[in-house]
Amino acid sequence: MAKEEKDIKCSFCGRKKNEVEILIAGTTGHICNHCVSQAQNIVRDELSQKNANGFSALHLLKPAEIKKHLDEYVIGQDEAKKVLSVAVYNHYKRIIQNQNKTTQKDDIEIEKSNVIMVGETGTGKTLLARTIAKVLNVPFCIADATVLTEAGYVGEDVESILSRLLQAADYDVAAAERGIVFIDEIDKIARKSDNPSITRDVSGEGVQQGLLKLLEGSTVGVPPQGGRKHPEQKMIQVNTKNILFVCGGAFDGIERKIAKRLDTQVIGYNMNKEAENIDKENLLQYVSPQDLKNFGLIPELIGRLPVLTYLNPLDAETLRRILSEPKNSLIKQYVHLFEIDGVKISFEKSVLDFIVEKAVEFKLGARGLRSICEAIMTDLMFDLPSDSSIKEFNVTLRYAKDKLKKSSINKLKVA
Ligand code: ADP
Repeated sequence: MAKEEKDIKCSFCGRKKNEVEILIAGTTGHICNHCVSQAQNIVRDELSQKNANGFSALHLLKPAEIKKHLDEYVIGQDEAKKVLSVAVYNHYKRIIQNQNKTTQKDDIEIEKSNVIMVGETGTGKTLLARTIAKVLNVPFCIADATVLTEAGYVGEDVESILSRLLQAADYDVAAAERGIVFIDEIDKIARKSDNPSITRDVSGEGVQQGLLKLLEGSTVGVPPQGGRKHPEQKMIQVNTKNILFVCGGAFDGIERKIAKRLDTQVIGYNMNKEAENIDKENLLQYVSPQDLKNFGLIPELIGRLPVLTYLNPLDAETLRRILSEPKNSLIKQYVHLFEIDGVKISFEKSVLDFIVEKAVEFKLGARGLRSICEAIMTDLMFDLPSDSSIKEFNVTLRYAKDKLKKSSINKLKVA
């Protein structure tokens, strides 16, 4: 027999229906408005607690697992992926160790493993750092070293880097404090020359000096909105001890410095064998901290970026794979875009080869793939959504060549 109205009570606190404002019925019980709000508070507290520590339990993946994730998004660059996966794993292990400093062995202080990546522009440095942050689910930001100047000069102070990280973390300082910062174009703040000049090097060595304190870990006053610091501005204190800094740069011309060093090293030391083994086509793989110093980074900065790795230039075969293999490859993105409009789009294999051929010809690298694809696809993206009669479209080589010829992409051609 059904219960009488007045006997119905909250299955959590036992209050009767007439003692509460609202009683919500479930399949096997009831909950009152008091218990709902209490439960809501518990959920909120638990979640914020989890967010504060949760990344360690949820996202600390083993290096091989991190690399596997990277493989889904980044083609090739195995050496960089491996080095980065280990660095990131050690970094987060170090954070966890600091959190649970209980055992005696924990006297061993694991040092921070900031990373520096050397490789031509458009080879995947930013993509690697961004993907790592995504895999670990930590706040991530990109900062451009070229806009930084020494404190007090026109430009941005180094602390503005952390403003971006704070923004990425939705101003959750605790989350930002274990985020990842990618500093791009680190090579552009190289010391301009070996001779100390009369004018100050405010956008070169001055910035390198400024970065030291961020990289090694200290508490820094960060202007919430970025840019320059004002004396009356309220600062947010951010501790950079557990922030992982990944720096990237093309280091144009560093190959010459590497070659020179290898030459001098090889002489007098097992000369023939060593010299024979050197792959002159890709000297970046031999990059060492010494070469960075010769390029104009100050030793103190190099010391705070202990993990050094390199990226390979992208050849046609890699570009071809980039076009279609990654989880969110350009081709997959176009297919998905049209799918939303109910159109099944496909590409002739020769079209993909053609796109790569043009990217190589225009010397545009992986970034160029996108511009070439856009040039080919723009008309379709404009026309197809309004034409409900077309449900399928096969992009042929003839179509692609025709669209590219008519587009302004030829202007991008690098002489
Ligand atoms: P970098 O930071 O080295 O200048 P990016 O990481 O910004 O280069 O790469 C530019 C774009 O090129 C990326 O967004 C990505 O689409 C593509 N790309 C570059 N290298 C790769 C790669 N190895 N695998 C997949 N995509 C890549």
